[in-house]
Amino acid sequence: MTTFFERFKFYSTLPNLGDIMVYCSKCAEELPENAYFCLKCGTRTRNGVTAGISPPWNWEKQLEQTLSTVVKEMEKAVESVRKSINKSNQKISVSCSSCGEKNLGSAKYCYKCGSELK
Ligand SMILES: [Zn+2]
Ligand SMILES: [Zn+2]
Repeated sequence: MTTFFERFKFYSTLPNLGDIMVYCSKCAEELPENAYFCLKCGTRTRNGVTAGISPPWNWEKQLEQTLSTVVKEMEKAVESVRKSINKSNQKISVSCSSCGEKNLGSAKYCYKCGSELK
């Protein structure tokens, strides 16, 4: 049975094992290789740093990410609304039967020649 300090000393002298084994740099807990945070003390692992994972207490970064997601969603929504407006504009446009001019679907008379639109 090794003490915590001995374990820590042992692990900190280990060569760089890369992705094969991950140990917490703070408490030397053995972690799954894909872990981004220590299961025991919550310290970010080298994996987490490499992957650019923000610690949960970094609210500024999280807010930034959330906002950029919201902005993207809004841009998508605006784009889809714009598309549907374009579509409905095309649908409701009416061509004048006498001069061929395109009028709004709500128009009763051609704005160019005054013919009644049907
Ligand atoms: Zn730890
Ligand atoms: Zn007309």
